[in-house]
Amino acid sequence: MKCVASNPRANLNCGVAAQDYFPTEAELITNGATQKNLHERAAAATRAQFGREVFVRAVVEVSNFCRENCFYCGMRRDNRELKRFRALHEQLAEMLIHHRPASVTDINIQAGEDPVAVREIVLPLIETLRRETTLGISVCLGTLTPELYRELQSAGATIYIIKFEIGDAAQYENFAAPGTLAERLRHIRLLAADGWNVSSGFIAGLPGQTPRDLLNNFELARDLPLSGCSVSPFIPGNETPFATAPAANSDWTFNSVAALRLLRPDWIIPAVSAFNLAAADGYRRGLRAGANLVTINLTPDEVRSDYVIYKRDRFIMTEERVLDAIAAENLTPSKTGLADFYLENPAKKSKDEKNPAATI
Ligand code: SF4
Repeated sequence: MKCVASNPRANLNCGVAAQDYFPTEAELITNGATQKNLHERAAAATRAQFGREVFVRAVVEVSNFCRENCFYCGMRRDNRELKRFRALHEQLAEMLIHHRPASVTDINIQAGEDPVAVREIVLPLIETLRRETTLGISVCLGTLTPELYRELQSAGATIYIIKFEIGDAAQYENFAAPGTLAERLRHIRLLAADGWNVSSGFIAGLPGQTPRDLLNNFELARDLPLSGCSVSPFIPGNETPFATAPAANSDWTFNSVAALRLLRPDWIIPAVSAFNLAAADGYRRGLRAGANLVTINLTPDEVRSDYVIYKRDRFIMTEERVLDAIAAENLTPSKTGLADFYLENPAKKSKDEKNPAATI
């Protein structure tokens, strides 16, 4: 898929014109007629950029071990109630090579921050998939060493998903997000400078988050060398310090998706399964607000319920649910994979990527 948009003022990846749009606090919390207008503008921007096609990726969750302790996540290391698992490389390879849905063009390999799983499962799995399939390969594995990033890249992964989660350094620390915000941002810049297509993201509706806090995330995302960005609604996780906190306001969540789309019409913005925990028709609302990537969960049944980012009653996006949601929104699965799309439409390098490795 080539970008639909073209404009002589283009200076961003995939030919989209530089936009002057930046959201306001009021827009991020709006509802009613102004919200409708915001979402319609975002949908129009998505169609102008990508037509009616959405990317279809599958995810496999390969380990729920995690050395981090984020307050907002059920897989935090202090959760002693959770049965930990590492999936089997052979089982995943067999399923992805021979039994994946026909619509899937890319695979995302995801885990808690677990370098053991990276070595024992992820690297061999990427090598196998690279040898046996034409799937594009994304990974979401947390903050690792530059050496491990390079091994993953050499094996054949091209997209790194690493969310900054919280765009305020003090809140980032208070919620025990991985390392420090500064360190996380250095890793994002390092990955981009080393040739990865980097997708980041943030959480909407965290306990105590104000509209100004939410807006901080946009300022940060705007200045990072990203190819995509996500909005995850806060969902109180079992066995976390936030277990009794209220879930994200769905308006804040979907307004943030729409604002991201207007901020960067060229970005890949995923519809995340947690949208369905934020609102009954959340997945479709996300697609209507500007999301253009859907994910089918292919984690083996016997371990899927232990991958508890939020709670055990996850809303699993099966192939049927994903394709139904796309069809209901009059969208169509892209035949071009996401990794191939990025190859055809490389992200523009930002000025601040000169030698980020030196700072890690
Ligand atoms: S959000 Fe990621 S890094 Fe933090 S505890 Fe959960 S799996 Fe670990």
